[in-house]
Amino acid sequence: MLWSGWGDPAQARELPEPIRGLLRDLLGVRAPDAPAATLESVRLPPAALPGPLLAALAGIAGAANVRTGHETRVRHTRGKSTPDLLRMRVGDGSDAPDAVVLPGSHEEVAELLRLCSEERIAVVPFGGGTSVVGGLAPARAGFTGVIALDLARLDRLRSVDAESMVAEFEPGVRAPEAERLLAAHGLTLGHFPQSFEYATLGGFAAARSSGQASAGYGRFDDMVAGLTLATPSGTLELGRAPRSAAGPDLRQLVLGSEGVFGVITSLRLRVRRAPAERRYEGWRFASFAAGSAAMRALAQEGPLPSVLRLSDETETMIGLAKPEAIGSGGSGGSGGSGCLLIAGYEGTPGAGVPLEERRRAAAAVLARLGGEPLGEEPGLAWERGRFAAPYLRDSLLAAGATVETLETAGFWANLPRLYDAVRLALLGALGSPLVMCHVSHVYETGASLYFTVVTPQDADPVAQWERAKAAASAAIVEAGGTITHHHGVGRDHRDAYGLELGPLGAAVLRAVKGELDPAGILNPGVLIPGP
Ligand SMILES: Cc1cc2nc3c(=O)[nH]c(=O)nc-3n(C[C@H](O)[C@H](O)[C@H](O)COP(=O)(O)OP(=O)(O)OC[C@H]3O[C@@H](n4cnc5c(N)ncnc54)[C@H](O)[C@@H]3O)c2cc1C
Repeated sequence: MLWSGWGDPAQARELPEPIRGLLRDLLGVRAPDAPAATLESVRLPPAALPGPLLAALAGIAGAANVRTGHETRVRHTRGKSTPDLLRMRVGDGSDAPDAVVLPGSHEEVAELLRLCSEERIAVVPFGGGTSVVGGLAPARAGFTGVIALDLARLDRLRSVDAESMVAEFEPGVRAPEAERLLAAHGLTLGHFPQSFEYATLGGFAAARSSGQASAGYGRFDDMVAGLTLATPSGTLELGRAPRSAAGPDLRQLVLGSEGVFGVITSLRLRVRRAPAERRYEGWRFASFAAGSAAMRALAQEGPLPSVLRLSDETETMIGLAKPEAIGSGGSGGSGGSGCLLIAGYEGTPGAGVPLEERRRAAAAVLARLGGEPLGEEPGLAWERGRFAAPYLRDSLLAAGATVETLETAGFWANLPRLYDAVRLALLGALGSPLVMCHVSHVYETGASLYFTVVTPQDADPVAQWERAKAAASAAIVEAGGTITHHHGVGRDHRDAYGLELGPLGAAVLRAVKGELDPAGILNPGVLIPGP
């Protein structure tokens, strides 16, 4: 992973000249004056943990698994939101942990949490480090120091129960490795978020992630049949049957808890047969409203494709559903007029309703509601470019444009109001940015909206984005949406989450935190709204 950006440096992409021209002429983007910082020049706070405490940590995890080197600390500083990357580009490593500790078992995690509670060392559980909401940047004040608890050594598939279709994993397994391990059994999770290449299973559960094929496979929290949580107060084992009437389901308290109650050390996940066939295709709708109505019909009446997304007019025009083709000048580039819908079907001959039958039935619904079939080419272009957009972000940042995403969800009846409110807030805050949106996940009762914003960087691009984000967040709250559908709360959404919960809801969370983490060492300042 590129320390100051996204992904495999070998896949970095230069912006094509037509896109540079568009940025320059349409948005007024100018290249930054100063070159980006180098890894060596990143400024870190002096390491705060004294030798005896480092030795005590090493006594539990092993000396080789307590690391304090410059590069390791830089690589565990914050996550991968655009403000995170902008801060790194100017060499600001002020949120770096003092040390990175890599436990090798549940028992070591539990021991480390006990030690850190006694010594008041803040602990940041660290999965793939792809948080985009400030979930990895804890408040330091009042602590002896901060460690990142990197779960990379907890990287095993423990068991596969092919009868129940449940696989048990350790939390540090990255998504591609999980798919590789399951493929050996003919199985899949079907969880493909855009952060797929680097994010971990523990991170997906801790942040309630949702993947591109959520229509077919569900959100990640739907997949969690059981889990183990190590807390400073002891261990919670949750989930002994697929469903239960035995009181409130405490799994739901852990899903989305972003490391503030404990560390997930094991996950029992529902798996599916790996599909042998896939077919992705495009449809054009005259307007976002018409395309949304067609998605709603599929969500409510079926059949629901495995992948379903609808770009608004601006996103369609730019061609963002097919990022690898942007600026290529070919037919896969600019998406043209109207709104592009991508529908993807996955299945295996002989298992369930045949793919072709589902495809025909869904196509009949889409055509009845005004869709024009575009065939497989747009679907294949989407599939080829489905993980490419984050690479494009790095090139845009280097060119002097801020590009960032934000998301929300609401009920169908309220979706147009939510869409308008967020767009207007972003336009009002940033002058004349490019604001694009797509419907990214659908349910019977509603859907999520995923916005992408491109704007020229001003002299302080972090503050510039924070103003825009504050305006968009206020608009989401005001328009009755949720502050996040799948990115999570972190530090960035904490205040808006507090408004969603209300004072009593926030007090309940604080009471749970007080029970499980009495010293308050786990991810201080993240998730839980302040008093
Ligand atoms: C380019 C890009 C694209 C993205 N696309 C998507 C997308 O399509 N869908 C989506 O849902 N999200 C997306 N995200 C957000 C992010 O990938 C998810 O939030 C993901 O779930 C984080 O996983 P991670 O392993 O990287 O967790 P981290 O970023 O390491 O951690 C996330 C939070 O969970 C806590 N945590 C991590 N592991 C554990 C554990 N084992 N126990 C307890 N707490 C833990 C951390 O302390 C932190 O608060 C994207 C992010 C980026 C940068």
